[in-house]
Amino acid sequence: MADIALEMAETIRAYHAKGWSPATSTNYSYRDSANDKIINVSRSGIDKSFFRAEDFMCVDFEGKPAFGYESIRPSAETLIHCIIYQLFPSSTVILHSHSKYSVLMSQLVDKSISFKGYEIQKGFKGQTTHEATVTVPVINNSQDMIVFSEWMKARETELNHHCFIIRNHGTYAWGDNLFEAKRHLETLEYLLEVEFMKRCVK
Ligand SMILES: [Zn+2]
Repeated sequence: MADIALEMAETIRAYHAKGWSPATSTNYSYRDSANDKIINVSRSGIDKSFFRAEDFMCVDFEGKPAFGYESIRPSAETLIHCIIYQLFPSSTVILHSHSKYSVLMSQLVDKSISFKGYEIQKGFKGQTTHEATVTVPVINNSQDMIVFSEWMKARETELNHHCFIIRNHGTYAWGDNLFEAKRHLETLEYLLEVEFMKRCVK
């Protein structure tokens, strides 16, 4: 079993413990340097508190099950992973959360949310100061993956912090490796939590 699969499984279990993947929800993927034509994506319906390295399946870049997994149906959201890998070809890991604060904050903003003045903003690649403004786009939830695809292509330049928010759903973040993807997701989740607390908890 590849180290990355084991590390991904450990990350998934840790994120479940944070409450980011309740009731078997969310999905995660990675690309293995041994074969970059394969996307390894978490299988649907698995309790993330018990997620194992063996619980990934292989799909191709169109999201179709492949490489021995043809009989298993992947999550519909697998196509979001495919689009991210197409738009950001250096990325090798995609993480997704169904966190409560992303859902709550998404109800308070329109097409994006901006953060300024937080030290942790430097967790986003290329950010060197808390004084900059970081804006993360928000898309309405949809079951139509074509809608997501067109939205992401239209707003590609706004995805420069390697993450976005789906309203009433959760967050996606990615990186060139697991360490970077985790940093992006955890930075965004932290910012969403403190911003919600600032606005709504008196
Ligand atoms: Zn989801």
